[in-house]
Amino acid sequence: MATVAATVAAAGERLAAGGVPSDEAPGDAEVLARHVLGWDLTRYVLSRREEAPPAFASRYDALIARRLAREPVSQIVGVREFWGLEFEVTRDVLTPRPETELIVEEAIAAFPDRRPPDLVAGVSIVDVGTGSGCLAIALATEFPSAEIIATDISEAALAVAQRNARRHGVNNRIAFVHCDLLPSMPAVDLIVSNPPYIPRCDAASLAPEVRDFEPDVALFADEDGLHFYRRLFEEGGRNQLRPGGRLIVELGYDQRGRVADLAARYRWRVLKVREDVQGIPRVMVLAC
Ligand code: GLN
Repeated sequence: MATVAATVAAAGERLAAGGVPSDEAPGDAEVLARHVLGWDLTRYVLSRREEAPPAFASRYDALIARRLAREPVSQIVGVREFWGLEFEVTRDVLTPRPETELIVEEAIAAFPDRRPPDLVAGVSIVDVGTGSGCLAIALATEFPSAEIIATDISEAALAVAQRNARRHGVNNRIAFVHCDLLPSMPAVDLIVSNPPYIPRCDAASLAPEVRDFEPDVALFADEDGLHFYRRLFEEGGRNQLRPGGRLIVELGYDQRGRVADLAARYRWRVLKVREDVQGIPRVMVLAC
């Protein structure tokens, strides 16, 4: 009988040999093992030199086979952490990414005194294309008196987002609206969006985990990838934002210049651009 650690090491090698990026394979093998065992990291570190329990090998092999077919770990285990909260993830939603947390940071920076729970006029927020609901829900926890609208064109995604809102006890403060981009609404303080921004023609160059398992509707814009910025700038103008309001959007890796040009054309002002840990301009803060 093999120890858990030896089984995991062997599985990591199989994943790498099978095409999973070699810097991810060992970590993926470990996360999937902990998922099968129901062990947190501490328990894993303390117990991995023990022999694997009887049913482990067959259940683990089944998950390793799914990962070898390039299914993302988030979808196999069904959850991903974002802003310190655990979100349900399915094939109907984009897996929350760490760089998207920059939007939450910038929202807090933009409205530093709008967060006390007893504040009557909390900040009003719209999350356009909410997907898993990660942005709307993280913002609901950070702005306890905020009124929030979360939209998506995918009803399947909205169902996941609603379950995530219930999971975090903020479902009574988020209105989920099935619509294309912005709902009809009175002006708000803050619009956030991580829109689909990958040009269709780049699909072939994406990792199979993204291309084959994440929803097309969450990933792709038109051929230049700018379709949703154009629409946000055009439809999200002065009528949609209160004075002092902000629009905060995530950007594709090479889109900073073109999105800034587009913003200028629709008379938006770029106040700030945040880079992610890789130094990629990732989040743009705008006012109109
Ligand atoms: N708002 C969600 C996120 O940031 C989904 C975005 C999307 O599907 N394009 O992860």
